[in-house]
Amino acid sequence: MGCGHTKDMTATVPEARRPCPIEQQCGGVAAEYAECTVCFEPLCDMPCAMLHKNGARVCRHLIHQRCAESMQCAGNYTCPECRGPFDTASPLPRLGACNPREWFAAVDVDGDQRLDKNEVLTVLKAQYRLDWRQLEEHLDGELWQLWDQDGSGDLKFEELFADTGLIAYITGDHVAKRFAADTSATSRAAAECPALENTAAWFRYWDTDSNGTLDIQEVQRALMKTFNLGKEMQRVHTMRETLDAVWPIFDLDGNGEIDFQEFTAPNGLGETLALSVAMLDRKLPNVATATTAAIRLRRMASQPYLGPGWDVCV
Ligand SMILES: [Zn+2]
Ligand SMILES: [Zn+2]
Repeated sequence: MGCGHTKDMTATVPEARRPCPIEQQCGGVAAEYAECTVCFEPLCDMPCAMLHKNGARVCRHLIHQRCAESMQCAGNYTCPECRGPFDTASPLPRLGACNPREWFAAVDVDGDQRLDKNEVLTVLKAQYRLDWRQLEEHLDGELWQLWDQDGSGDLKFEELFADTGLIAYITGDHVAKRFAADTSATSRAAAECPALENTAAWFRYWDTDSNGTLDIQEVQRALMKTFNLGKEMQRVHTMRETLDAVWPIFDLDGNGEIDFQEFTAPNGLGETLALSVAMLDRKLPNVATATTAAIRLRRMASQPYLGPGWDVCV
Protein backbone atom coordinates (compact mmCIF):
# COMPACT_ATOMS: atom_id res chain seq x y z
CA MET A 1 0.00 0.00 0.00
CA GLY A 2 2.64 2.48 1.01
CA CYS A 3 0.23 5.34 1.60
CA GLY A 4 2.46 6.59 4.39
CA HIS A 5 4.90 7.79 1.76
CA THR A 6 2.29 9.96 0.11
CA LYS A 7 2.96 13.70 0.11
CA ASP A 8 0.62 16.47 -0.98
CA MET A 9 0.00 15.16 -4.44
CA THR A 10 -2.63 17.68 -5.44
CA ALA A 11 -0.32 20.68 -5.73
CA THR A 12 1.42 20.01 -9.05
CA VAL A 13 -0.07 16.81 -10.42
CA PRO A 14 -2.36 17.30 -13.45
CA GLU A 15 -6.02 16.45 -12.92
CA ALA A 16 -5.88 13.24 -14.96
CA ARG A 17 -2.99 11.83 -12.91
CA ARG A 18 -4.28 12.78 -9.49
CA PRO A 19 -4.61 9.89 -7.04
CA CYS A 20 -7.94 8.69 -5.75
CA PRO A 21 -9.46 10.59 -2.79
CA ILE A 22 -8.32 7.94 -0.30
CA GLU A 23 -4.70 8.22 -1.46
CA GLN A 24 -4.91 12.01 -1.28
CA GLN A 25 -5.99 11.74 2.32
CA CYS A 26 -3.21 9.43 3.47
CA GLY A 27 -1.15 12.38 4.64
CA GLY A 28 2.46 13.40 5.04
CA VAL A 29 5.21 12.72 7.51
CA ALA A 30 2.91 12.60 10.57
CA ALA A 31 0.97 9.72 9.02
CA GLU A 32 4.26 8.08 8.11
CA TYR A 33 5.13 7.86 11.79
CA ALA A 34 1.57 7.41 13.16
CA GLU A 35 1.79 10.78 14.91
CA CYS A 36 -0.65 13.61 15.58
CA THR A 37 -0.30 16.37 12.96
CA VAL A 38 -0.59 19.07 15.64
CA CYS A 39 1.99 18.02 18.25
CA PHE A 40 3.81 15.18 16.42
CA GLU A 41 3.58 12.92 19.47
CA PRO A 42 2.49 9.31 18.83
CA LEU A 43 -1.27 9.10 18.24
CA CYS A 44 -1.47 6.04 20.49
CA ASP A 45 -0.18 8.02 23.51
CA MET A 46 -3.51 9.79 24.07
CA PRO A 47 -7.20 9.48 23.12
CA CYS A 48 -7.83 10.60 19.53
CA ALA A 49 -10.57 12.62 17.90
CA MET A 50 -12.43 12.45 14.58
CA LEU A 51 -13.36 15.66 12.78
CA HIS A 52 -16.94 16.22 11.60
CA LYS A 53 -18.88 18.87 9.72
CA ASN A 54 -22.67 18.86 9.70
CA GLY A 55 -22.57 15.39 11.24
CA ALA A 56 -20.34 13.81 8.55
CA ARG A 57 -16.64 12.96 8.73
CA VAL A 58 -14.49 15.64 7.14
CA CYS A 59 -11.61 13.28 6.33
CA ARG A 60 -9.92 10.15 7.61
CA HIS A 61 -7.32 12.08 9.62
CA LEU A 62 -7.10 11.63 13.38
CA ILE A 63 -5.51 13.96 15.90
CA HIS A 64 -5.32 13.90 19.68
CA GLN A 65 -8.49 14.96 21.45
CA ARG A 66 -6.52 17.49 23.53
CA CYS A 67 -4.98 18.95 20.35
CA ALA A 68 -8.40 19.23 18.71
CA GLU A 69 -9.77 21.01 21.78
CA SER A 70 -6.78 23.34 21.83
CA MET A 71 -7.37 24.22 18.17
CA GLN A 72 -11.06 24.88 18.81
CA CYS A 73 -10.23 27.13 21.76
CA ALA A 74 -8.03 29.17 19.44
CA GLY A 75 -10.80 29.42 16.84
CA ASN A 76 -9.03 27.13 14.38
CA TYR A 77 -11.57 24.77 12.80
CA THR A 78 -9.60 23.24 9.92
CA CYS A 79 -7.98 19.82 9.80
CA PRO A 80 -4.23 20.39 10.30
CA GLU A 81 -3.46 17.75 7.69
CA CYS A 82 -5.79 18.51 4.77
CA ARG A 83 -7.27 21.90 5.82
CA GLY A 84 -10.81 20.52 5.60
CA PRO A 85 -13.18 22.68 7.72
CA PHE A 86 -14.82 20.98 10.71
CA ASP A 87 -17.36 22.04 13.35
CA THR A 88 -17.07 19.17 15.84
CA ALA A 89 -14.30 16.93 17.16
CA SER A 90 -15.62 13.73 18.71
CA PRO A 91 -13.72 10.96 20.54
CA LEU A 92 -12.57 7.94 18.56
CA PRO A 93 -13.93 4.94 20.50
CA ARG A 94 -11.66 2.06 21.40
CA LEU A 95 -13.01 -1.34 20.40
CA GLY A 96 -14.46 -3.31 23.32
CA ALA A 97 -16.99 -6.04 23.88
CA CYS A 98 -19.91 -3.63 24.27
CA ASN A 99 -19.35 -1.11 21.49
CA PRO A 100 -18.61 -2.89 18.17
CA ARG A 101 -21.33 -0.96 16.31
CA GLU A 102 -20.03 2.38 17.54
CA TRP A 103 -16.45 1.39 16.69
CA PHE A 104 -17.44 0.16 13.21
CA ALA A 105 -19.20 3.45 12.44
CA ALA A 106 -16.13 5.41 13.58
CA VAL A 107 -13.73 3.37 11.43
CA ASP A 108 -16.04 3.43 8.38
CA VAL A 109 -14.97 6.91 7.26
CA ASP A 110 -16.81 6.92 3.94
CA GLY A 111 -19.97 5.42 5.48
CA ASP A 112 -20.33 2.61 2.93
CA GLN A 113 -21.01 0.03 5.70
CA ARG A 114 -17.75 -1.76 4.87
CA LEU A 115 -14.23 -1.37 6.20
CA ASP A 116 -11.34 -1.28 3.77
CA LYS A 117 -7.68 -1.89 4.62
CA ASN A 118 -6.81 1.79 4.86
CA GLU A 119 -9.68 2.48 7.26
CA VAL A 120 -8.66 -0.38 9.55
CA LEU A 121 -4.95 0.37 9.39
CA THR A 122 -5.50 4.07 10.17
CA VAL A 123 -7.32 3.24 13.40
CA LEU A 124 -4.96 0.47 14.49
CA LYS A 125 -2.03 2.84 14.03
CA ALA A 126 -3.79 5.45 16.15
CA GLN A 127 -4.72 3.17 19.04
CA TYR A 128 -1.88 0.65 19.37
CA ARG A 129 1.87 1.16 19.65
CA LEU A 130 2.82 -0.95 16.67
CA ASP A 131 5.52 -1.71 14.18
CA TRP A 132 2.85 -0.81 11.68
CA ARG A 133 4.99 -1.29 8.57
CA GLN A 134 5.22 -4.93 9.52
CA LEU A 135 1.48 -4.99 10.23
CA GLU A 136 0.81 -3.41 6.86
CA GLU A 137 2.74 -6.19 5.11
CA HIS A 138 0.73 -8.87 6.88
CA LEU A 139 -2.52 -6.97 6.38
CA ASP A 140 -1.97 -7.20 2.64
CA GLY A 141 -1.54 -10.94 3.00
CA GLU A 142 -2.85 -13.58 5.36
CA LEU A 143 -4.40 -11.31 8.00
CA TRP A 144 -6.95 -9.69 5.71
CA GLN A 145 -7.83 -13.06 4.18
CA LEU A 146 -8.46 -14.33 7.70
CA TRP A 147 -10.81 -11.48 8.56
CA ASP A 148 -12.48 -11.12 5.15
CA GLN A 149 -14.62 -14.26 5.41
CA ASP A 150 -16.36 -13.92 2.04
CA GLY A 151 -13.28 -12.72 0.14
CA SER A 152 -15.02 -9.54 -1.00
CA GLY A 153 -11.97 -7.36 -0.30
CA ASP A 154 -13.52 -5.43 2.58
CA LEU A 155 -15.15 -6.21 5.91
CA LYS A 156 -18.87 -6.14 6.62
CA PHE A 157 -20.01 -5.62 10.20
CA GLU A 158 -20.99 -9.28 10.63
CA GLU A 159 -17.55 -10.45 9.54
CA LEU A 160 -15.94 -8.79 12.55
CA PHE A 161 -17.43 -11.42 14.90
CA ALA A 162 -15.95 -14.60 13.37
CA ASP A 163 -13.74 -16.73 15.63
CA THR A 164 -10.75 -15.61 13.58
CA GLY A 165 -12.23 -12.17 12.89
CA LEU A 166 -10.97 -8.68 13.53
CA ILE A 167 -12.60 -8.27 16.96
CA ALA A 168 -11.03 -11.45 18.34
CA TYR A 169 -7.69 -10.39 16.93
CA ILE A 170 -7.72 -6.88 18.37
CA THR A 171 -9.39 -7.45 21.72
CA GLY A 172 -7.21 -10.51 22.32
CA ASP A 173 -4.12 -8.30 22.12
CA HIS A 174 -2.71 -10.34 19.24
CA VAL A 175 -2.04 -7.26 17.20
CA ALA A 176 -0.25 -5.41 20.00
CA LYS A 177 1.94 -8.39 20.89
CA ARG A 178 2.73 -9.65 17.42
CA PHE A 179 3.63 -6.26 15.99
CA ALA A 180 5.09 -4.57 19.06
CA ALA A 181 7.06 -1.45 18.19
CA ASP A 182 10.77 -1.20 19.01
CA THR A 183 10.64 1.82 21.36
CA SER A 184 14.39 1.64 22.05
CA ALA A 185 15.00 2.52 18.40
CA THR A 186 12.96 5.71 18.90
CA SER A 187 15.02 6.64 21.96
CA ARG A 188 18.28 6.00 20.11
CA ALA A 189 17.11 8.14 17.18
CA ALA A 190 16.23 11.03 19.53
CA ALA A 191 19.66 10.86 21.18
CA GLU A 192 21.37 11.13 17.78
CA CYS A 193 19.46 14.24 16.65
CA PRO A 194 21.94 17.02 15.76
CA ALA A 195 21.59 20.58 17.05
CA LEU A 196 19.69 23.00 14.80
CA GLU A 197 22.77 25.27 14.70
CA ASN A 198 24.46 22.56 12.62
CA THR A 199 22.12 23.24 9.72
CA ALA A 200 23.62 20.75 7.23
CA ALA A 201 23.57 17.79 9.64
CA TRP A 202 20.12 18.78 10.90
CA PHE A 203 18.72 18.92 7.38
CA ARG A 204 20.14 15.52 6.42
CA TYR A 205 18.92 13.94 9.65
CA TRP A 206 15.34 15.09 9.18
CA ASP A 207 15.18 14.50 5.42
CA THR A 208 13.96 11.04 6.29
CA ASP A 209 13.06 10.09 2.73
CA SER A 210 16.44 11.43 1.48
CA ASN A 211 14.81 13.28 -1.40
CA GLY A 212 16.96 16.40 -0.81
CA THR A 213 14.05 18.62 0.27
CA LEU A 214 11.97 19.28 3.39
CA ASP A 215 8.30 20.23 3.24
CA ILE A 216 6.69 22.36 5.94
CA GLN A 217 5.26 19.41 7.82
CA GLU A 218 8.67 17.72 7.92
CA VAL A 219 10.20 20.92 9.35
CA GLN A 220 7.35 21.28 11.88
CA ARG A 221 7.93 17.72 13.04
CA ALA A 222 11.69 18.16 13.16
CA LEU A 223 11.40 21.30 15.31
CA MET A 224 8.95 19.63 17.71
CA LYS A 225 11.31 16.68 18.13
CA THR A 226 14.50 18.74 18.33
CA PHE A 227 13.13 20.91 21.13
CA ASN A 228 10.83 18.27 22.67
CA LEU A 229 7.83 20.59 22.48
CA GLY A 230 5.08 18.04 21.93
CA LYS A 231 3.67 18.07 25.44
CA GLU A 232 3.60 21.86 25.80
CA MET A 233 0.64 23.02 23.75
CA GLN A 234 1.40 26.72 23.91
CA ARG A 235 4.94 26.21 22.58
CA VAL A 236 3.62 23.81 19.94
CA HIS A 237 1.33 26.52 18.59
CA THR A 238 3.94 29.26 18.83
CA MET A 239 6.34 27.13 16.83
CA ARG A 240 3.73 26.34 14.19
CA GLU A 241 2.74 29.99 13.83
CA THR A 242 6.38 31.07 13.58
CA LEU A 243 7.11 28.55 10.87
CA ASP A 244 3.92 29.40 8.94
CA ALA A 245 5.03 33.03 9.01
CA VAL A 246 8.58 32.52 7.81
CA TRP A 247 7.99 29.75 5.27
CA PRO A 248 6.94 31.94 2.29
CA ILE A 249 10.09 34.03 2.67
CA PHE A 250 12.26 31.01 1.96
CA ASP A 251 9.98 28.95 -0.28
CA LEU A 252 10.42 31.39 -3.13
CA ASP A 253 8.90 29.28 -5.88
CA GLY A 254 5.98 28.36 -3.64
CA ASN A 255 6.26 24.62 -4.32
CA GLY A 256 5.98 23.84 -0.60
CA GLU A 257 9.50 22.46 -0.26
CA ILE A 258 12.93 23.81 0.64
CA ASP A 259 16.08 22.16 -0.65
CA PHE A 260 19.46 21.64 1.00
CA GLN A 261 21.12 24.74 -0.49
CA GLU A 262 18.22 27.02 0.45
CA PHE A 263 18.14 25.64 3.96
CA THR A 264 21.87 25.82 4.72
CA ALA A 265 22.68 29.13 2.96
CA PRO A 266 23.77 32.15 5.09
CA ASN A 267 20.55 33.76 6.35
CA GLY A 268 18.73 30.67 5.04
CA LEU A 269 15.85 28.94 6.77
CA GLY A 270 18.12 26.81 8.99
CA GLU A 271 20.06 29.74 10.39
CA THR A 272 16.93 31.83 10.79
CA LEU A 273 15.09 29.09 12.65
CA ALA A 274 18.06 28.51 14.96
CA LEU A 275 18.19 32.23 15.83
CA SER A 276 14.45 32.51 16.17
CA VAL A 277 14.22 29.54 18.50
CA ALA A 278 17.03 30.94 20.61
CA MET A 279 15.09 34.20 20.90
CA LEU A 280 11.87 32.38 21.75
CA ASP A 281 13.73 30.47 24.45
CA ARG A 282 15.37 33.71 25.61
CA LYS A 283 18.77 32.14 25.15
CA LEU A 284 19.95 35.32 23.46
CA PRO A 285 20.34 38.35 25.77
CA ASN A 286 18.73 40.78 23.31
CA VAL A 287 17.62 41.08 19.73
CA ALA A 288 20.71 43.07 18.79
CA THR A 289 22.59 39.79 18.48
CA ALA A 290 20.15 38.39 15.96
CA THR A 291 20.28 38.82 12.21
CA THR A 292 17.84 40.96 10.26
CA ALA A 293 16.13 37.82 8.99
CA ALA A 294 15.47 36.52 12.48
CA ILE A 295 14.06 39.86 13.62
CA ARG A 296 11.80 39.89 10.58
CA LEU A 297 10.74 36.36 11.41
CA ARG A 298 9.80 37.28 14.96
CA ARG A 299 7.86 40.33 13.79
CA MET A 300 5.97 38.27 11.26
CA ALA A 301 5.16 35.64 13.86
CA SER A 302 3.33 38.26 15.91
CA GLN A 303 1.30 39.74 13.08
CA PRO A 304 -2.49 39.53 13.34
CA TYR A 305 -3.04 37.47 10.18
CA LEU A 306 -1.78 34.46 12.11
CA GLY A 307 -5.10 34.38 13.88
CA PRO A 308 -6.16 34.51 17.50
CA GLY A 309 -3.64 33.61 20.17
CA TRP A 310 -3.22 29.95 20.94
CA ASP A 311 -2.71 30.61 24.61
CA VAL A 312 -6.33 31.53 25.27
CA CYS A 313 -7.15 28.26 26.95
CA VAL A 314 -4.04 26.11 27.01
ZN1 LIG B 1 -1.45 15.97 19.29
ZN1 LIG C 1 -7.98 16.02 7.23
